[in-house]
Order: sequence, then C-alpha cells, then structure tokens
Amino acid sequence: MECSCGGVVVEGKSCYRASGERYCYILEDIPAYRCTRCGKVLFEDDVVDRIKKLVNRIERESNEITTGKSSIHSYDY
Ligand SMILES: [Zn+2]
Repeated sequence: MECSCGGVVVEGKSCYRASGERYCYILEDIPAYRCTRCGKVLFEDDVVDRIKKLVNRIERESNEITTGKSSIHSYDY
C-alpha cells in the first residue's frame, strides 16, 4: 500500500471517529497504515466498508431509539 502523496506507509493501529446529531462513535485499535511522509492514516478497503456499514446501522438505530419509531430499510439486506 502507498499513500497518495507517494510516501511510504507503515502498519499500525488507529481509531475511527464518527458523530451525528444523536450519537458520537469511536472505534479504537483498528488495523491501519500511516504515511511516514504526510502522516495521513489509511485503512484497508474492506475495513472502511465494514466501518461504514456499522456507522449506518448506528445512525439508523440511534434514530429508532430516540424517536421510538422503527425504520427497516430493504437496502440493508
Ligand atoms: Zn502521504
């Protein structure tokens, strides 16, 4: 893996933070890569996909909890 700046990346751990109107979510110790040149943190594609799905789910469920309404979307399955 290489950074978009062309720098060398080293393997390590990082955290991912997501926040919305009703939630703040931090996932720690995710396997990640850090660019030794610009310091940018990169995640594997499948890790990014899984995090996005998780965040979507948190967003939906937090809405359900706070509004008391169930919202099942067919695109999740
Ligand atoms: Zn870089």
